[in-house]
Amino acid sequence: MFQNKVVLELLSKYKSVWALLHLQALGSWDSETYMPSSGLNTRGEALAKVSSLVQDLLVNKDFRKLLDEAKEQSNLNDAEVGLLRLLERDFEMNEKLPKAFVEKYAKTVSESQAVWREARQQNDFKKFQPYLERIVNLTIEQADYLGYKDHPYDALANIYEEGWNTKDIEKYFSSIKAPLTSLVKKIKTNSQNTTDDYSSLKYDIEVMKRVNKYALELFKYDNSVIRLDESAHPFTQEISIEDCRITTRYPEESWGSSLSATIHEFGHGLYSSQINKEFEFTPLSFATSLVLHESQSRFWENFIGRSKEFLKQIEHFIPDLSPEIKQIYSKTGIEGVYKYFNNVSPSLIRIEADEVTYHSHIMLRFEIEKALVEKSIKVQDLPEIWNHKMNEYLGVVPKTDSEGVLQDIHWSMGSIGYFPTYSMGTALSAQLRSYMENDLGGLQDLITNKKYVKIKKWLGEKIHLFGPTYTMKDLLKKQFNAELDPSFLLKYLENKYL
Ligand code: MG
Repeated sequence: MFQNKVVLELLSKYKSVWALLHLQALGSWDSETYMPSSGLNTRGEALAKVSSLVQDLLVNKDFRKLLDEAKEQSNLNDAEVGLLRLLERDFEMNEKLPKAFVEKYAKTVSESQAVWREARQQNDFKKFQPYLERIVNLTIEQADYLGYKDHPYDALANIYEEGWNTKDIEKYFSSIKAPLTSLVKKIKTNSQNTTDDYSSLKYDIEVMKRVNKYALELFKYDNSVIRLDESAHPFTQEISIEDCRITTRYPEESWGSSLSATIHEFGHGLYSSQINKEFEFTPLSFATSLVLHESQSRFWENFIGRSKEFLKQIEHFIPDLSPEIKQIYSKTGIEGVYKYFNNVSPSLIRIEADEVTYHSHIMLRFEIEKALVEKSIKVQDLPEIWNHKMNEYLGVVPKTDSEGVLQDIHWSMGSIGYFPTYSMGTALSAQLRSYMENDLGGLQDLITNKKYVKIKKWLGEKIHLFGPTYTMKDLLKKQFNAELDPSFLLKYLENKYL
């Protein structure tokens, strides 16, 4: 795969970076799963130090020289070109950010997360406010260091989705805003089913663990590569192509969200584990496009996990979840289960939102983030702005900041510019579904016949195999001669819910 001598030399130099990133990934997975809580004090320092070592290894004269030399080579293959593109990007980002800034930033976000947790628990925005102000200021500084053409948000968008800018995101949201708002209204007036029997019921966590495991087994997951654990916020951590950690959670009164989270993270894990194994030890071993990544998780979560065909396959566990759940199930059967997983209703919490209203939650966050970094709004006014926008887009207003502006961890981590990838990834999943059905026939039939291996193989060949060799835009062009097109999402939602 990698043949060019200069590229090989570069890769052998890169291996130290790779090793540090590998162990950094393991360290952060551990801190979210099994580390005793006081370990956080030292782990944060250790991870920050590793980042700084990576920066030293990348941003130095020898590495730069070799990278320039490699870029001048002729006859490079696609993997080699992709590799150099990623290294250039890494180099640039690391070079532009002064060391003192990186350290200050890392320290601030590590402190802020702890404060955010407390503030959310105590419903005390004022407590978090000075930290968020610091984060917003540092983020503006970061955008200035990284550079941008039209808007500081461009620099941030590009961190999470290579080559994307504010205009791309605005264009995307403006094409879904009006149709989705009118769809929500139509569903509300059409809907005969507003009772959501299964919500707010306790369940047996041990049974739920068996359901989650069974779902992964149905998908023929490879348990020598993907490992499932528990964490407060479900996430996926790629350690290497053959070592992927996914987590789920067991919220007290929502067995559905435990299953959905498991399937969602499986989609992420599958992506990282189906990258070409020859990319191991190189920058191509980690998938970097968050839009592509989220398209994979949402594909499994929404199109498979919420389908009646799949739910029938785990149906036999439901009566064992609890006596109350058994009672509802005996009355409403699979239809009740299906409605529970597909109920559309505007709600306060993003991660519990349905397929239709989800995008409004993201749009609101994008608009706020953009306004914050262009300094047209102030952090102190966020609770009010948040509630106002919730009312405008979803018709619901949080009673507390905990279920409003304080609900997400992202801003406390400094991840400003990240949210749009959630919505765009979901839109891309609908587009990929359509392409897959052209090739393999209807997804419902594939699920009914448990052809999960066939689905995995298609996703592997079309998307996963390449890892980050191409940017998201270039991969869509190469594989489907297409660009991100939200009309697939709108069509899918209209067909399903009207
Ligand atoms: Mg995700």
